[in-house]
Order: sequence, then C-alpha cells, then structure tokens
Amino acid sequence: MKGMIVIDRDMCKGCTYCVDACPTGVIIIENIFNGMGYFPARPEHLDKCTGCAMCAQMCPEIAIEVYREEKK
Ligand code: SF4
Ligand code: SF4
Repeated sequence: MKGMIVIDRDMCKGCTYCVDACPTGVIIIENIFNGMGYFPARPEHLDKCTGCAMCAQMCPEIAIEVYREEKK
C-alpha cells in the first residue's frame, strides 16, 4: 500500500517521536526553526511511506495527516 503524510510545520514541537516511530525512515528533523521556535519534522522520503499511520498515532500535537492510496 502506498501512503503519504503531511506535517503541519507550525504545529510541530520537534519531539522526534514520529521519526522514531516510522519503520521506513520517511521523516527527518529540519534545521530551520518553525514559527514556535522548534526544529520541525519533515517527510523527506515519501516514496518509502506505506501509510501505516504509526507516526500520526505517536504525535502529541496531532500535526500529521496520513493519506493512503485506495486499492482498485
Ligand atoms: S505513515 Fe507509516 S510509513 Fe508513512 S511516514 Fe508515517 S510511520 Fe512512516
Ligand atoms: S511527533 Fe509530532 S510534534 Fe513530534 S516531531 Fe513529529 S510531527 Fe513534530
């Protein structure tokens, strides 16, 4: 299954829970501050995303949306 995520950069507090939770290494932490003064997470390797939603389940800020490709 192919997935995609969107991270709300300005809701993110840079806790790295999503980075640690992702089994395929999709997410990285940026080195540029967001509007709240945190280094936010970013989906860098979206080609590896399966849509498992483990990142979103771990996010305390509810900053991650997960989309999955529908099977035809
Ligand atoms: S949905 Fe799954 S594979 Fe995709 S970024 Fe989140 S944890 Fe990683
Ligand atoms: S789990 Fe949520 S708040 Fe923490 S780094 Fe990831 S997106 Fe940001």
